[in-house]
Amino acid sequence: MIVQPTAHSRLGEQDFNNLPFGSLFTDHMLVANYENNAWQAPQIVPFGRFEMSPSLSALNYGQSIFEGMKAFVNEQGEALTFRPHENFERMNRSAVRMCMPEIPEHIFIDGLKALLKIDNKWIPRQEGASLYIRPVMFATDEAVGVKPSDSYKFCIIACPVATYFKEPLKVVIEQQYIRAAQGGVGFAKAAGNYASAMYPTKLIQEKGYHQIIWTDAVEHKYLEESGAMNLMLVINNTLITPVLSDSKLAGVTRSSLLHIARTWGLTVEERLISADELVQAHANGTLQEVFGAGTAANIAAIKLFHYQGTDYELPAVNSESFQIKGGNYLNQLKQGKVPDVFNWNITIPA
Ligand SMILES: *Cc1c(COP(=O)(O)O)cnc(C)c1O
Repeated sequence: MIVQPTAHSRLGEQDFNNLPFGSLFTDHMLVANYENNAWQAPQIVPFGRFEMSPSLSALNYGQSIFEGMKAFVNEQGEALTFRPHENFERMNRSAVRMCMPEIPEHIFIDGLKALLKIDNKWIPRQEGASLYIRPVMFATDEAVGVKPSDSYKFCIIACPVATYFKEPLKVVIEQQYIRAAQGGVGFAKAAGNYASAMYPTKLIQEKGYHQIIWTDAVEHKYLEESGAMNLMLVINNTLITPVLSDSKLAGVTRSSLLHIARTWGLTVEERLISADELVQAHANGTLQEVFGAGTAANIAAIKLFHYQGTDYELPAVNSESFQIKGGNYLNQLKQGKVPDVFNWNITIPA
């Protein structure tokens, strides 16, 4: 790995007790270019801007994909990253669908390790805070004309972030707009998926809600997922989550929580779940929990859902609720505070 360390670290100027979310970046970034049908040598360089042409292929035709993960430090000050090979493989599934080149493991994983090694001191030591890591790849040809770009840039950037304290969410089960359809790109972390979700999300936020729960594109009946989180329910002590399909993003948080639940002996179901079933379970008192699962928030509690003109309040959670018990356990695993029984962490010495 070619490493060009910064001559002017910004670390000393930061107030780690008042971190913005997502706008403060560490001293370095990983950059690798794809040119002449091959990935060129990756480099760690000082974080900074790129020059670009308005004809940049990514801007005009949207070949742009990303990933999201977090790092913590353990008591020895070593960086811990959680299941990064899952993100690596998912990014390459996104790449294939968007007609972009797959990234070799030595660039993604070794690049991540090199970045976390050189920027170890940027990983917040405060309780609950973490380093949010953003791998991103975009098309860099400078020409208009719809075709796959011949050149790409892959980067890994990282920002220290505070605990994602958030009030429990009020969500709307959306039946007019859709996020993804069968045969589309919903399973990919493709930039355009987030752009197309913004307008419908703005509309529900103007009415005082926080997030959308998308439904299927054909019948607007089956629950899909939220903006950047998978959806989970507990009905009658069974953990239920919409079964994966090409319209849903296969979350690492989702798969980890399902694995933990199964290990604990809980009944887990991955299947279609309709909004009507949710309303019915609410009516007969068997609906115990609804929550979101994703890297940024870990668990996002949901306190109310809106469906076809009615607000439905959810029961209060307690220390026995799966979202609390499972969520806390997953957090502790990521922070190295409980034994890594599933071998999920990769440790990177400072
Ligand atoms: C990133 C994302 C998730 C959550 O995935 P994690 O790997 O758990 O962070 C869920 N849904 C969408 C649409 C996402 O973009």
